[in-house]
Amino acid sequence: MSMPRGEARAEAEPTKPVILIAAAPAEVMLRNQLLSRYRTDYELLFGEPAAALGVLDELAEAGRAVALVLVSRSPHVRSVLGAVRRLHPHARRGLLVAWNEQRPVREEMSEIISRGQADCWVRRPMSSPDERFHRDVVELLDEWWRHRGTSFEAVTVIGQRQSARAHEICDLLQRHDFPYGSYDADSPAGSKALTRAGVTAERLPVVVLHDGTVLVDPTNVDAANALGARTRPREGVYDVAIVGAGPAGLAAAVYAGSEGLRTALIERQSMGGQAGTSSLIRNYLGFPRGISGAELAARALDQAMIFGTDMVYGGDASGLSIAGDRRTLHLADGTAISARSVIVATGIAYRQLDNPDLRAFQGLGVFYGAAMSEARALTGEHVYVVGGGNSAGQAAIHLAKFAKHVTIAVRSDSLAQSMSDYLIQDISRTQNIDVRYGVEVVGASGDGWLEKLTLRRTIDRREETVAAAGLFVLIGAQPYTDWLPESVHRDEHGYLITGPACTCGSCPTGDRRLFETSLPGVFAVGDVRHQSNKRVASAVGEGSVAIRMVHEYLTRRLGKTAEAGRSLSPVL
Ligand SMILES: Cc1cc2nc3c(=O)[nH]c(=O)nc-3n(C[C@H](O)[C@H](O)[C@H](O)COP(=O)(O)OP(=O)(O)OC[C@H]3O[C@@H](n4cnc5c(N)ncnc54)[C@H](O)[C@@H]3O)c2cc1C
Repeated sequence: MSMPRGEARAEAEPTKPVILIAAAPAEVMLRNQLLSRYRTDYELLFGEPAAALGVLDELAEAGRAVALVLVSRSPHVRSVLGAVRRLHPHARRGLLVAWNEQRPVREEMSEIISRGQADCWVRRPMSSPDERFHRDVVELLDEWWRHRGTSFEAVTVIGQRQSARAHEICDLLQRHDFPYGSYDADSPAGSKALTRAGVTAERLPVVVLHDGTVLVDPTNVDAANALGARTRPREGVYDVAIVGAGPAGLAAAVYAGSEGLRTALIERQSMGGQAGTSSLIRNYLGFPRGISGAELAARALDQAMIFGTDMVYGGDASGLSIAGDRRTLHLADGTAISARSVIVATGIAYRQLDNPDLRAFQGLGVFYGAAMSEARALTGEHVYVVGGGNSAGQAAIHLAKFAKHVTIAVRSDSLAQSMSDYLIQDISRTQNIDVRYGVEVVGASGDGWLEKLTLRRTIDRREETVAAAGLFVLIGAQPYTDWLPESVHRDEHGYLITGPACTCGSCPTGDRRLFETSLPGVFAVGDVRHQSNKRVASAVGEGSVAIRMVHEYLTRRLGKTAEAGRSLSPVL
């Protein structure tokens, strides 16, 4: 390799993953801090940014794993980061900054990060040891370790190649943060794992746990049970039963548990809800370099369980009945869960474009649902909006304040039937918005971030490739509310109406608490709520505030005191 190496090179074993530092050689403190902590497990390579491109090539050719690249500011910074993304997609990328970095430099760095070209900045070490520096490095290494898969497998999944069910189980494990390995049953590793487990490939998928437990074609609930999750409610009456373990339901569970309420959290699918499907949530407070939805959900679930929440995993709420002060949730498997209050946090399902290319760029230029927080990062770029409804129109107008150009792509030949006239007028008055009728988006490409889209004309199926740095898909959403009785009022799209401002005509005005539905003691939070904000932070905020309303309801309606805490809830 042409790059000058640190002294670690002579001692390093060739199989160690690499940490590459593309910075001036005079950075002695940086060099010493890294060598003193990481040389046992990693090979450390140091060199000028200009030399890093060649080294990255050589490492890729040699099939070496690169865990982390730290780059200091130089004219080469973007090309180095681009090469890392292209050649070593699992490697984490940190920008080295000084504590007193000048504003133009910070602004340039911020722009690089907001465009997804680097993961974060890392402040150079200022003392020995500098634990804040090491915390940043270790967090980046942890992220790399999770992305590439670990050598430890708590669960092994053996399935038929491209089996949808095996894929579903793997998705579930990933979303619950379990280290797992998955093998094709026909591969040598797969058949070895089957032999070791003492089963044949007759019924697949087979799931083998670390303690030797073997599950043949298990349901999600079987798998959750075997992994130690609670799937059944306890006997008795809960103070609050929360339906849906997305951000809103998880937050409600954490606050309910922490305030002494006897709490059940019922989830039919996966922890984290929609947020759990996001590879990187970048706008959630306190995580400047973003956090994966699965990790956020896993942390929140731990927190809820520490505060005593009973998780009812695999519980599909299919009905709600009321008798006096008792609310009973009916699950699809016949289980009934009795509670004094209920929080509905069942969220929504966004309609998605069914295309693997687009899935690969989700969060990296392709966004579902809303445009607000990503708009600034797309300043000066050409972006596309898919959808012909009001939400698509509003998103386009908002994006046009930042983007160089916005194109609305619709399959139909008019917006008139799907979008309000005032929005159509606004769009026609906005110079940097155009509408392309009769097209659909069928492909995407880019180097770590969306760069191009493939559009297909519906009339003759001719395809063309266009430059695009952002794609916002707003083709509708459906709230999960059809399981609730009609006495829980909804708007015309099925979202639950909450709070004192109900205009349904049948609720006494002002009689309802914040987040309370038309049924007393039944609250709704998060995306499922009429006019909700469709953001993780809003869902979390609503889930936590709703617990205060639950306390108030229990105190006023039922004559109990919030302070009584667990004594509120004798097991009946
Ligand atoms: C791909 C993607 C990326 C996103 N990225 C961001 C982002 O970066 N930043 C941001 O702020 N927002 C983002 N959002 C939006 C954000 O995820 C949502 O606003 C948030 O998850 C809403 O939380 P919620 O708890 O209200 O509902 P949800 O997250 O939808 O959770 C609802 C839960 O209820 C469960 N459920 C539904 N019906 C039932 C039933 N009958 N019985 C039992 N359980 C049930 C579902 O399985 C689900 O787990 C993203 C959304 C998507 C789809």
